[in-house]
Amino acid sequence: MKSAEYQAGLAGYVRARSRLVLKLSEAGVTDPRVLAAIKNTPRHVLIPEILRVRAYQDRALPIGEGQTISAPGVVGRMTQALRLKGHERILEIGTGSGYQAAVLSHLVESVVSIERIPDLADTARQHLAGMEIGNVKIFVGDGTWGRPENGPYDGILVTAGGPAPPKPVLLQLRVGGALIGPFGPRDRQQLVRIVRRDRTRFAQEVLGDCSFVDLIGEHGWAA
Ligand code: SAM
Repeated sequence: MKSAEYQAGLAGYVRARSRLVLKLSEAGVTDPRVLAAIKNTPRHVLIPEILRVRAYQDRALPIGEGQTISAPGVVGRMTQALRLKGHERILEIGTGSGYQAAVLSHLVESVVSIERIPDLADTARQHLAGMEIGNVKIFVGDGTWGRPENGPYDGILVTAGGPAPPKPVLLQLRVGGALIGPFGPRDRQQLVRIVRRDRTRFAQEVLGDCSFVDLIGEHGWAA
């Protein structure tokens, strides 16, 4: 049974989510499973109450600690770029609000998500429990090291902008799997899709320009 808050939220915001999904489908998010997952994810409960009227606009919003919940369109494009079938184990770096992880939870077997700010990780855990999501595990730490004890992963999403793909994380990708993430200078990055061809070879494709908050860590930017 879902808690009253999450249930009331689902009923109250359902039309706004349908409109959002229509807009995203016209803007290039075409995978029906990804659109359905976005339609089923109550983004408004993951943001400060005062911002809830903007929950289903396609824009990033502040969540405290100087961090943001990603725009639904970005979440849609990154999720779609993983080309998911349903059996995958996914690593996410940068839990933030838990929105991306919640969307993924509908589409894959399991998600390991790492967040460096303990309060954000705690809040995201509570919200995902409220949504009765049981296949996402959130850890606190420097995600630029990945989490090899749970790997290898069929797909990896890096949801903060780093100078380059963190090497330890790339090496936790299963052969044939893809890492999606924003890399480049601090003020503007390119969203890339990197496929692991074999043990030592990776192929990179640029998906477009983007701008994310910093990936801070040993294999990211200095704090
Ligand atoms: N995926 C999130 C969501 O759906 O709300 C949005 C992520 S927000 C744009 C980026 C997040 O990455 C922030 O919460 C930030 O604290 C986190 N972050 C930055 N560097 C990190 C690192 N090295 N390890 C783990 N998390 C990191």
